[in-house]
Amino acid sequence: MDATAQPLVFRPPRGGAEPWARLRRAIVGELHTDAASRGRYATDASIYQVQPLGVLVPAGDDDVRAAMAICAEAGMPILPRGGGSSQCGQTVGAALVIDHSKNLGRILELDVERRTVTVEPGIVLDALNARLAKDGLWFPVDVSTSAQATLGGMAGNNSCGSRSLAYGNMVHNVVAIEARLADGTEARFGPERDMRAEAPRVRDLLEALRAIGARERDEIARNVPKTMRRVGGYNADVFNPQSERPYTADGSVNFAHLLVGSEGTLAWTRALTLALSPLPRHRALGVVNFRSMREAMSSAQPLVTLHPSAVELVDRTMIELARANPAFRPVIERALIGEPEAILLVEFIGDDAATPLRQLDDLAALLGDIGLPDRLVRLPDAAAQKALWDVRKAGLNIMMSLRGDGKPVSFIEDCAVPLAHLADYVDRLTEIFRRHGTRGTWYAHASVGTLHVRPILDMRRDGAAKMRAIAEEASALVREYKGAFSGEHGDGLVRSEWVAWQFGQRLTRAFEEIKDLFDPAGVMNPGKIVRATRMDDATLFRYPPTHRTLAVDTALDWSAWDVRSDPATGALSSPGSGGDPAHGFAKAAEMCNNNGHCRKFDAGTMCPSYRVTRDEIHVTRGRANTLRLALSGAFGDDPAHPAVREALELCVSCKGCRRECPTGVDMARMKIEFQYQWQRRHGVAFADRLVATLPRWAPYASRVAPLVNLRNRIPMLARWVERPTGIAAARTVPSFRLQPFAGDAQAQAADADVVLLVDTFSRYFEPENVHAALAVLRAAGYRVAIAMPQAGDPVSRPLCCGRTYLAHGLVDEARREALRVIQALAPHVARGAAIVGLEPSCLLSLRDEFLALHLGADAERLAARALLIEEFLARERAAGRCALPLRALAERRALVHGHCHQKAFDAAGVVVTVLRWIPGLDVAPIESSCCGMAGAFGYATSHFDVSRRMAEASLLPAVRAAGRDTLVVADGTSCRHQIADFTRTTGSREALHAIRVLARALDETAPRTPAPAQSTQA
Ligand SMILES: Cc1cc2nc3c(=O)[nH]c(=O)nc-3n(C[C@H](O)[C@H](O)[C@H](O)COP(=O)(O)OP(=O)(O)OC[C@H]3O[C@@H](n4cnc5c(N)ncnc54)[C@H](O)[C@@H]3O)c2cc1C
Ligand code: SF4
Ligand code: SF4
Repeated sequence: MDATAQPLVFRPPRGGAEPWARLRRAIVGELHTDAASRGRYATDASIYQVQPLGVLVPAGDDDVRAAMAICAEAGMPILPRGGGSSQCGQTVGAALVIDHSKNLGRILELDVERRTVTVEPGIVLDALNARLAKDGLWFPVDVSTSAQATLGGMAGNNSCGSRSLAYGNMVHNVVAIEARLADGTEARFGPERDMRAEAPRVRDLLEALRAIGARERDEIARNVPKTMRRVGGYNADVFNPQSERPYTADGSVNFAHLLVGSEGTLAWTRALTLALSPLPRHRALGVVNFRSMREAMSSAQPLVTLHPSAVELVDRTMIELARANPAFRPVIERALIGEPEAILLVEFIGDDAATPLRQLDDLAALLGDIGLPDRLVRLPDAAAQKALWDVRKAGLNIMMSLRGDGKPVSFIEDCAVPLAHLADYVDRLTEIFRRHGTRGTWYAHASVGTLHVRPILDMRRDGAAKMRAIAEEASALVREYKGAFSGEHGDGLVRSEWVAWQFGQRLTRAFEEIKDLFDPAGVMNPGKIVRATRMDDATLFRYPPTHRTLAVDTALDWSAWDVRSDPATGALSSPGSGGDPAHGFAKAAEMCNNNGHCRKFDAGTMCPSYRVTRDEIHVTRGRANTLRLALSGAFGDDPAHPAVREALELCVSCKGCRRECPTGVDMARMKIEFQYQWQRRHGVAFADRLVATLPRWAPYASRVAPLVNLRNRIPMLARWVERPTGIAAARTVPSFRLQPFAGDAQAQAADADVVLLVDTFSRYFEPENVHAALAVLRAAGYRVAIAMPQAGDPVSRPLCCGRTYLAHGLVDEARREALRVIQALAPHVARGAAIVGLEPSCLLSLRDEFLALHLGADAERLAARALLIEEFLARERAAGRCALPLRALAERRALVHGHCHQKAFDAAGVVVTVLRWIPGLDVAPIESSCCGMAGAFGYATSHFDVSRRMAEASLLPAVRAAGRDTLVVADGTSCRHQIADFTRTTGSREALHAIRVLARALDETAPRTPAPAQSTQA
């Protein structure tokens, strides 16, 4: 297949540096032209990478207006961008990228009566819907990327959600678009009847568009697919409706619909007016189990006759992935009957509870009629429904987290075929994959004939050739079934060359005319939809065959990422066999596929620094991209480049991404590695060394505690040491105790059930936490030992997990500390004792970083027995071995702030669980991300403001709102200190470790619990 005319060319702006200088003067927002910033905007969720000329983050629409004027004069291309989550390369190009996601996200007008809202383009769908829910409304184009997709980008791509069967795509829900053309002309594009008094430029434009519509009427009827899901080309069918679901109720022309799906190639969207829907009050979900994929696909057509809001497919592979996850297993198994090859999730909605339930009955009856009785699992309750939808999303995430160079590639992911042909289409495409030595996992929108499938391809090797071959064969199927080559994700770089194939040469010329009418200079996102490059132009790939990786002598073990995957089976080669010159470090960074999920802002932890800055450089994706580029030599031959250091500066190592990034990008671990590489080349700053070596000097400092603590009492002293220590004078620091925890007379070393690993912070700053732990464990009947250095350990000071060293990249020192711990605990581990700790970041190092320090099997054995104290208590109670005598407290409520590392290891919920054992105590988690202190991060002068903003995002307001009868619980030393520090002036609040609360609630009058029969079970 030949691409259409005029390939994408790099056009330097006329006037050399002059336009940049003018731009800088003209705007209030940010203009970035350095290599790293441009690199961060060179990719989206596609396989492509093109360096933009520069990046503008406008402060407001005036900045965009000024920039567009200067670009028009200089002939500089413009590329509008929202979340950058496009899958087809829509948002990569050699242009000035204008990122509207940071500052252009206001709701301009909400008309609840008329159910319309007018928004700026940068508002994110979830943010909009959170606001609309207050009025019982929502914007129903529920894309999977709702947490990061902006309305401007959704309109640009004509996005579609899972419930498009009920609500349609963007084009069905956009009422009007206020647009600015490249020449500065501004106009409100909307229903034709409202567009009468326009300026001559707009009048002429509309006239010419109408003429094209009239002239191409037959061609549109002949060549525009009749499917509801069709997002390729321009929507020329506004003039001659073709979609199964008309764009307007009465078939009238709405010029905004021509801009929807135009991928930023026609005009800049300044604002959008959207049609809203009432929030469905009641839902019911039916899960239909099928013995074969074919049976499932053949059933889609009869099922949609029942008018469900969604019919979503989950195939066998995804079912198995869900089953393999302990958290999801009970959820998926509740939905299964036997061993189905596929399930369809059929959702009904209604204003009253009875309607969707009645529709479930109809579904059961219909299944009986088509010979599939007893295949339905009913999920009428909301919690079960949500859990199952979450499983479907997680399954996709696991699929996307495949390691190795072969990745599931999106290029035929959203072909739409009429439902009557869906079963044949799936069978034949599966056969095509097999012939090309690959396979695909099928999921998503069976209701509208758009099944997602991504074959696994290796773009560095034979991926490009296979991609073209598979695309050619798939396109033949789509043609045969009269479907649409793009039913959801648009054209971009991967599919624009197929526009001519889909719509024919004549209509493609008409599309070019439309482009030229709007944008005669061709500056709006050139090379997309019309005049495209070839999909397999390797010069545009993120990983072309020429991709290289710098050699790095890594400190941590990255071998699990250094593997190859078999595209046909998904099997991985052995760790370390992937051929990565950076021993897997580069491949770990490459796991980021740019889906942008780390830009979410409401739920979970990831990514606290983005939530307060909204900067691409300070989000996991920006960091992974910067690191990837550095490791590929994009900034020179030194992988420890200052650009990476800058990108990692505000990473608080919360491990939020480790758990919440769909592909498991673990930036906290990467930061350790990078800092190690940096220190090797540049040495360690005094302030960093001071904090890192705390375990070494803490014993001495505690001996002169009153003297050391003067820093907190004398502001001048705090100011005086601010510069050398880097610690903000405005901060207090934890106070040393003159009497730190110094051991325990009753400790039973040899036969203890539990070995308590006392961390440096508890020992020197809050020894009462250790005493509380001992009291609780003994009250529950356990024999407890305190972890002590091994006999003959040449280091006399107490054990330490090495976290402070890790946090500063001092990996060799951390390894030495870890080795002491492993050796000291090995005998206890061997006899099956539980190793228990109080400080989440310390104890969880044993389960995380210790395994990356090349410490062998002893480290793995230790990790398997290491538990936070609440995890231990909950495990024991579940096994019937722990009966704590507890009585009610004076306080009736407790609010729990989970430490980020607890959340990353699923160990936050258990704190709530154990506190709920206290009679009469109402315990609730605080929905918070990172507290902002994050070890020593928040103490640094340079981080003070960001740290405060992180705390103020949700934690501090919740703490301040809590009454005096409410306990504030936080297991992290730094979290507790952050709460204390920022409530000092507004009515001081002390947060407690959960173990202190349990210890307080111990009922001393209750008879002692006998020692558990056998508590040393894993
Ligand atoms: C894992 C994953 C799941 C996805 N699921 C779905 C799904 O369920 N349904 C779906 O439809 N898509 C889906 N997508 C694709 C993508 O997320 C959506 O198309 C999304 O709506 C894009 O929003 P965005 O803000 O990221 O836009 P961007 O990617 O930033 O931009 C999209 C297009 O709009 C243009 N544009 C942006 N702003 C403007 C503006 N102000 N003026 C003019 N043009 C502009 C851009 O130039 C670009 O061409 C998915 C992607 C991923 C990675
Ligand atoms: S870091 Fe993870 S969540 Fe963020 S864009 Fe990359 S893959 Fe997605
Ligand atoms: S570790 Fe935390 S701060 Fe750092 S990138 Fe991941 S989520 Fe963001």
